[in-house]
Amino acid sequence: MVKQTIQIFARVKPTVRKQQQGIYSIDEDEKLTPNLEIILPRDLADGFVNNKRESYKFKFQKIFDQGASQETIFENIAKPVAESVLAGYNGTIFAYGQTGSGKTFTITGGAERYSDRGIIPRTLSYIFEQLQKDSSTIHTTHISYLEIYNECGYDLLDPRHEASSLEDLPKVTILEDPDQNIHLKNLSLHQAATEEEALNLLFLGDTNRMIAETPMNQASTRSHCIFTIHLSSKEPGSATVRHAKLHLVDLAGSERVAKTGVGGQLLTEAKYINLSLHYLEQVIIALSEKHRAHIPYRNSMMTSVLRDSLGGNCMTTMIATLSLEKRNIDESISTCRFAQRVALIKNEAVLNEEIDPRLMIIRLQKEIQELKDELAIFTGEQRTEALSDAELLQLEKLITSFLDDQDPESRLEVGTDMRKIHHCFHHLKKLLNDKKIHGKSTVSCEIKDQDCQEPLKEEEYKKLRDILQQRDNEINILVNMLKKEKKKAQDALHLSSMDRSECRHSQSLPFPPGNPEGLRTLPSSAPKQIQDVSTFGYRSSLLHRKTGMREEMSLGRQEAFEIFKRDHADSVTIEDNKQILKQRFSEAKALGESINETRSKIGRLKEEITQRHMQQVALGVSENIAMPSMPDLLEEKLRSQLEEEKRRYKTMFTHLKALKVEIEHLQLLMDKAKMKLQKEFEAWWTEEATSLQVNSPAVNSLSHVKPFPQTPEFQQETSQPLFNKSNVNARKILPSPSPIPHSQEHNSTSASLESSVPERPASSVPLTGDSQTDSDILAFIKARQSILQKKSAPQLWTGLLFS
Ligand code: ADP
Ligand code: MG
Repeated sequence: MVKQTIQIFARVKPTVRKQQQGIYSIDEDEKLTPNLEIILPRDLADGFVNNKRESYKFKFQKIFDQGASQETIFENIAKPVAESVLAGYNGTIFAYGQTGSGKTFTITGGAERYSDRGIIPRTLSYIFEQLQKDSSTIHTTHISYLEIYNECGYDLLDPRHEASSLEDLPKVTILEDPDQNIHLKNLSLHQAATEEEALNLLFLGDTNRMIAETPMNQASTRSHCIFTIHLSSKEPGSATVRHAKLHLVDLAGSERVAKTGVGGQLLTEAKYINLSLHYLEQVIIALSEKHRAHIPYRNSMMTSVLRDSLGGNCMTTMIATLSLEKRNIDESISTCRFAQRVALIKNEAVLNEEIDPRLMIIRLQKEIQELKDELAIFTGEQRTEALSDAELLQLEKLITSFLDDQDPESRLEVGTDMRKIHHCFHHLKKLLNDKKIHGKSTVSCEIKDQDCQEPLKEEEYKKLRDILQQRDNEINILVNMLKKEKKKAQDALHLSSMDRSECRHSQSLPFPPGNPEGLRTLPSSAPKQIQDVSTFGYRSSLLHRKTGMREEMSLGRQEAFEIFKRDHADSVTIEDNKQILKQRFSEAKALGESINETRSKIGRLKEEITQRHMQQVALGVSENIAMPSMPDLLEEKLRSQLEEEKRRYKTMFTHLKALKVEIEHLQLLMDKAKMKLQKEFEAWWTEEATSLQVNSPAVNSLSHVKPFPQTPEFQQETSQPLFNKSNVNARKILPSPSPIPHSQEHNSTSASLESSVPERPASSVPLTGDSQTDSDILAFIKARQSILQKKSAPQLWTGLLFS
């Protein structure tokens, strides 16, 4: 709270004529309060005004003589008030003086020069400048401009105002709430975010005021104008909001009725002016007298509005404007007397802080929780919920700093929360145990170093055993890794030798071996096929399977198989089926493409329909009409197209499914035929070998080649779709002719099989020799196989087509 008397300043208006010199003098001592002495001219000294006194002395806070600039006035009078307003206190500056003494010039400014700007524009400029500098606070500024004329309030900031008289402006009335707070009904508040916006409002008000004034009413001299800057500020996150108001008041002329000249309308006005100022004077007298219980604020609108500024919560400043000319001496003395009374009034300005209810609720909720916590401690009712991570971290920090603190007096303060106390003990125990273990391991090292014979404890043994076990595991893993690396290197060597051999023989091979991925390969396309396969990333695994094959399969046997196949009746069937399959694949491929196209088309049509629909809705909204009842022709057309495409799609899809069945069937037929061929060849080969062995013991190399084992298991398998099981079966049928290390059994046995038996992988297809077609077929097979592995779900088949 700031207790302060109303500050009074005097401003002397420049006089036109030099002759006026000697009427007053200003005694400005730096240390003393300035004095304005008004010296009565001789011809007036005997008059009624001075009661035979020759001079009158008045004390002011500061006296601004004729030469004082607007800038000086602002700096000395308005700026300190503006500062207190920015700090959150209410402020009022009012100019009091007779008509023509310079009230309006001081408060608003002169109309001619920029340098004549008065207190209002300068204060606005200063306030906005300060607000801009202070980015830590959120500010809002509002402006209101009220004119009081004949005890009536008018809103000068009515933007709709086109009236030519004051009476056309919105009337402002006073409302008083039960707490005796004054509210001005109908006075508009305009937010001004910038100085420019606020100035615009000032000019709007002044224009309204000027327009409303007629020579008859001369409102500007007979009315009071109150320009108010409402400031509110709030720190981000704070619940407190500060409100401050700065009233800049241009009062009506203080001249007496007698001087105005009475009669008719003018008399009424003069009476009101005097009444209004008379009431102001009464309020000021009441306020300046100690122990006055009743202050007659309510007697006039003006005193009601300025109630806070006069003897209330406000830093108030008065400027007595003086026109110290001979003819105005009595009015000037009267103004100064008034000022002296005003100077006795003490105001108590307080910060107008208000609590934002929403933020207050949050604050209170927090406080309630804290109180509940406290209560729980005192009533012994312990909380059972777990401590939060943040709380635990905080506790551990406390413990660490407690342990680090060398001061023996230091304490670990965790309050009376048992959960925290328990956690502290727990944590301390953990720290202690960790330290013990660490200490022990150090000790055991020391024991070792010293070659101490003392037996180790059971616990330490266990620990060492565990470490040993870990190391053993690590070594095993590393050995395995090394083995793998070694094998890889060997395989790479085999690969290069096999590549060479492949180039040599592939052209003559009727059925190059299959591969684990289920690729069925045919002799005519073998070299190309290898390239194609590599495209799909199969090459390495395919070749890997072949590793060792060429080494073990003699050229003679390969040639024998070729001849056997050529002369076999089934080879024609195989060849025919191969042709049909190729044809079916092309069909399937074309169909797949068409289906994909149709699907995209369906997507596009759907999008078009949606867009069209949205356009129609938007049109309806913009024209503020309901959705047109007439069907949209374009949309209808799009919909029928969509239906057509869907039908097409369905037909093609059914066809593709039928093709798929056919292709699979053909593949199975070919598999069977090939298997039969292979079987017969093996039987024949074994027979030949046996007879050779019988005839010549030198041909020992073939003695270990087992004849075709006609196991029931195999017979069953061959009659069923083979898929990937073929590898397994084949391994059973024909073990590797060469001794193979046990660890490499899987790869080498299957490889040896591939060298002799055209394996029937899952989706093997006869290739065409045409690289493009073959690659398509291979892609198809690859995808098909993945579907088969997923139990041939139709959706997946569809998914494949569209992937
Ligand atoms: P009031 O509002 O008190 O009736 P005004 O402010 O309208 O008086 O002043 C009357 C005339 O005197 C105006 O033309 C104004 O420009 C001029 N005037 C007032 N004070 C000064 C000043 N300090 N310097 C220059 N001109 C002034
Ligand atoms: Mg004026």
